Amino acid sequence: MNVIARDRLVAEVARIVEEANIDLDGKAVACLKASLLKERNELAKGILEEIVLNQEIARNERIPICQDTGVAVFFVELGNDVKLEFDLEAALNEAVAIAYTDGFLRKSMVRHPLDRVNTKDNTPAVIHVKTVMGSALRIRFAPKGAGSENMSKIAMLTPADGFAGIVKFVVDTVKAAGGRPCPPIVLGIGIGGTFEKAAVIAKEALLRELDDEAILPRDRELEEALYQAVNATNVGPMGLSGDTTCLAVKVNSYPCHIASLPVAVNIQCHAARHKELIL
Ligand code: SF4
Repeated sequence: MNVIARDRLVAEVARIVEEANIDLDGKAVACLKASLLKERNELAKGILEEIVLNQEIARNERIPICQDTGVAVFFVELGNDVKLEFDLEAALNEAVAIAYTDGFLRKSMVRHPLDRVNTKDNTPAVIHVKTVMGSALRIRFAPKGAGSENMSKIAMLTPADGFAGIVKFVVDTVKAAGGRPCPPIVLGIGIGGTFEKAAVIAKEALLRELDDEAILPRDRELEEALYQAVNATNVGPMGLSGDTTCLAVKVNSYPCHIASLPVAVNIQCHAARHKELIL
């Protein structure tokens, strides 16, 4: 039995929350540098160079990569052989409050969507927990900025829309978003499930490693088709044209009803921030 102390969990989670905002994942940096080598548009190249330089300055000077330090989103896998003698969600929220306060990260959460009063510590986090077999507690964290989140969309397509319908919906969503999600973007695509399941697996797709591939061949095929189609839109870095509209496309799928084809497009900006912790 893996017994995890509350103090240790709060301290470790606070550390990755702060780090995620400062230290861009190495694979995201590698993707940005690779796209810079392929980009043919001079303006786009200049923007990509600025983006690469920005994340280096953030890491070296210990300052956030972007002023929008986002909503705190967690995906947690809780092993059946893990013992927690405390409220996990409360502990994760405490870690968020510590990281955003001590790390001088912008607090962006309001307590109600209509009264807009800031909670002043960036809580509450959005927390997804699933139980798995084993003795590990896996915590993945992503600060999700509003610029890209606001451009995300969901559609309840019909089965007849199929592969081509998904590609069209995703490309239309990216074109309509233009420069607002701060491209080059990463696309988390959720297909199948129900209305809410598609959105959750689309978000979770954004926490996959940028250089991995979907496990299912059909999903992999869709990732490749979408990568090519989105980069052919000429939206480009910051929406100012170019070859580099997206850095990666991640497709997660789930079984669905015979009459449904839910498709969620969760857009992530170039600041593809996330960190992982296993206790
Ligand atoms: S979309 Fe990303 S890069 Fe743009 S302001 Fe928001 S967090 Fe920052």
